[in-house]
Amino acid sequence: MSNSQHPSFLPTANPPTWLGVMGGGQLGRMFAHAAQAMGYKVAVLEPSADCPAGQVAERLVQAGYDDSIALGQLAALCSAVTTEFENVPADSMNLLAQGSFVAPAGSCVAIAQDRVLEKRFFVDCAAKSGVLPAPHKVIASLEDIQAIGDDLLPGILKTVRMGYDGKGQVRVKSREDVRAAFDSMNGVTCLLEKMLPLAYEVSVLTARGADGQSVVYPIAENVHRDGILFTTTVPGPNVSAECAQKAQDAARAIVAELGYVGVLCIEFFVLEDGSLVVNEMAPRPHNSGHYTIDACVTSQFAQQVRAMARLPLGDVRQHSPAVMLNILGDVWFEEGSGGDQQREPAWDRVLALPGAFLHLYGKDDPRRGRKMGHVTFVAPTLAQAQEQLRAACAILGIAA
Ligand code: ATP
Ligand code: MG
Repeated sequence: MSNSQHPSFLPTANPPTWLGVMGGGQLGRMFAHAAQAMGYKVAVLEPSADCPAGQVAERLVQAGYDDSIALGQLAALCSAVTTEFENVPADSMNLLAQGSFVAPAGSCVAIAQDRVLEKRFFVDCAAKSGVLPAPHKVIASLEDIQAIGDDLLPGILKTVRMGYDGKGQVRVKSREDVRAAFDSMNGVTCLLEKMLPLAYEVSVLTARGADGQSVVYPIAENVHRDGILFTTTVPGPNVSAECAQKAQDAARAIVAELGYVGVLCIEFFVLEDGSLVVNEMAPRPHNSGHYTIDACVTSQFAQQVRAMARLPLGDVRQHSPAVMLNILGDVWFEEGSGGDQQREPAWDRVLALPGAFLHLYGKDDPRRGRKMGHVTFVAPTLAQAQEQLRAACAILGIAA
């Protein structure tokens, strides 16, 4: 059945209406919470037995992401299936689409999970979106390295596939650096991107329904540390009205051009001269959209449910200024211990801060650099939310 033939569907109790999600991480967990709140049952397909989404879903299909029998079971059970991670095999989404409504489509996932296809798409779409990606070149051989123009250096060499949280990236100043970095990546195809003078980074969360209607959330300003998202602030303190408009227009053009259905997050760089550069897109809810749970009328996860069920999309209005702080495993370790001494962070003190919403993902093994949860602070003014962020960082031993 093609996607266009699927009708919308409401939750039903008997027999229950099921929604499926590929992947068992925290994004799947928060998706499950939103789906269950609306009366759906949730099935998760994931290889590991104990996973954040598996802990809350009504059913865990424990199997590899490319297990065709398990995919068939998921499609047969669920009225619609989505993904919570971008490296889901696109072929698995295509297979699921033979028996269920799938959003986003495998063809969209395939573009977002391959930096070469993604960059090409952004370039092809630039006439409509008004934004270009960073200057770049595909590096697949030593000849490609020889042919690097001076204009691309210094740069960042990124693996074409499977990169996340800054992993699979090396900063390079010379062709020699590129050669060494390329060698260290075991010969996988890479993309060299020119290092741009970033003023700040923003992301635009969008959702598009199967009927072509789209919504765009307020622009989020993101700060990364060690390649991992540290905070998201909305409204972004640096974001001008003109920049916000440009990013939102670009996002609308991009989802329309993709023919996308579901939640999509697009990351942009704002350069020192104020110009906007599109970086990458995630075909799913995004870490920088977690603030929507506590600060917007419709969370990004509830929006994903609506898009999948082909229901009207929800209001994206933000009702409170918000700051989201990622909680990494580091805060379980005694400050300065450098060792493996663990303690539970003082959540009681964090939750005593006005407007604090704590979200923990059910991971029982805190490791440094591992995303364990997040806290969102909402307040009547952005300054107050930022004040609570600083207070929380002091409590948790995080340098603000
Ligand atoms: P994630 O999945 O966490 O978003 P990623 O590993 O897919 O990250 P990118 O988003 O491409 O990788 O890059 C990670 C960070 O590195 C960016 O947020 C930005 O701070 C920096 N960065 C990436 N590309 C460039 C560039 N061309 N110029 C300057 N900084 C860059
Ligand atoms: Mg990124």
